[in-house]
Amino acid sequence: MKNATIAGAGLVGSLWAVYLAKRGYKVDIYESRTDLRKANLSAGKSINLALSDRGWKALEKVGLGDEIRKVAIPMYGRMIHALDGSLTHQPYSVNGDAIWSVSRGGLNCVLMDLAEAQGNVDIHFNHKCTGVDLETGSATFSERNSGEKVMTEPGLLFGTDGAFSAVRKAMQRTDRFNYQQEYIEHGYKELSIHPNEDGTHKIEKNALHIWPRGEFMLIALPNLDGSFTCTLFHPYGGEVGFDALDTDEKVVDFFKSTFPDAYELMPHLLDDWHENPTSSLVIIRCFPWTKNGKVALLGDASHAIVPFYGQGMNAGFEDCTIFEKFLEETNEDWPTAMKLYEEERKPNGDAIAELAMRNFVEMRDLTGDPKFLLQKQIERK
Ligand code: FAD
Repeated sequence: MKNATIAGAGLVGSLWAVYLAKRGYKVDIYESRTDLRKANLSAGKSINLALSDRGWKALEKVGLGDEIRKVAIPMYGRMIHALDGSLTHQPYSVNGDAIWSVSRGGLNCVLMDLAEAQGNVDIHFNHKCTGVDLETGSATFSERNSGEKVMTEPGLLFGTDGAFSAVRKAMQRTDRFNYQQEYIEHGYKELSIHPNEDGTHKIEKNALHIWPRGEFMLIALPNLDGSFTCTLFHPYGGEVGFDALDTDEKVVDFFKSTFPDAYELMPHLLDDWHENPTSSLVIIRCFPWTKNGKVALLGDASHAIVPFYGQGMNAGFEDCTIFEKFLEETNEDWPTAMKLYEEERKPNGDAIAELAMRNFVEMRDLTGDPKFLLQKQIERK
């Protein structure tokens, strides 16, 4: 049997394992974290993502669409919350198209289950990639507790180990490898709206909620348990930036004056504020994405983008679809397929990185602007 090694059992790595398994590979995934499926993910704390067309196509291609739809909620448009509490619904299309809210952890668990169900995929948890041999396509993984090292067989190695990829780090040390890392001024914090006592949603379930306030933006995506995961995108600096919101009083004042209707729905705001970290947002651009016809990067490892277009995971899933297409076309000539893959995907990765930044401006500034709304209505007609 042919062998392949994957570093990282995140969203993209787990899906890529299914693709390789279906092509008859024996796949070993090494993941630095413990098994998410055995961790206790408490209700109301799930972090969710918007899954859209590109992502669905990649899932459908290996027959996973129906399984994932069971744990996803369609959002047919944006619900804009104005400062005075008035609501405007902006449908995504006139045909009832939707993007779907899925729990990141839940989706990752389902994808790992489905990967293992192929029969030829093994996931080794608590194994961190600590060394890469780009010439042979093998890697060394260190077991978290014992420190024991495992070296994989030479062959195919895939880096799906996220924005701070260890596989990419090894490539960064090679000649003519371009790499750029950019932190934007804004960071984010996860907050939540809990369900009603009967488990129903407190605000419209089938919409992506946005509180656009120029420099600040709050969004909320629905979860199956009736809760919403909210994300505050917010600058670090400035008069009311993250750094300045350093007392409970300031946080409450800021929410009361900036997001009054959301504040009413968040009696536990301060608990979330203290419990959840403030996280930064990074854009990673690099090239090439493959080395020696044996090593390749997919997902955030090759193109981490800001989340404002909700396309990071979707683009990573599409990497799988396109890579697979070239494997098919070249009759699994890996060096050629890898070249074709990176040449096609790199400009697309750059484009979505740019669009994601532009969509931040649209979401935080324009969705609340009457002129912009009128223009959108005209476009829809
Ligand atoms: P990751 O999800 O980062 O997975 C990498 C895996 O590799 C992890 O399991 C990690 O533990 C493991 N790993 C890391 N280092 C090592 C190592 N050295 N050895 C072994 N394993 C390792 N995208 C969307 O499409 N829609 C959205 O709505 C959306 N919303 C987002 C909201 C926010 C706030 C953020 C930050 C991102 C959002 N994204 C969204 C982007 C999306 O989260 C990423 O694009 C996606 O998670 C990338 O998947 P991945 O598998 O490439 O990387």
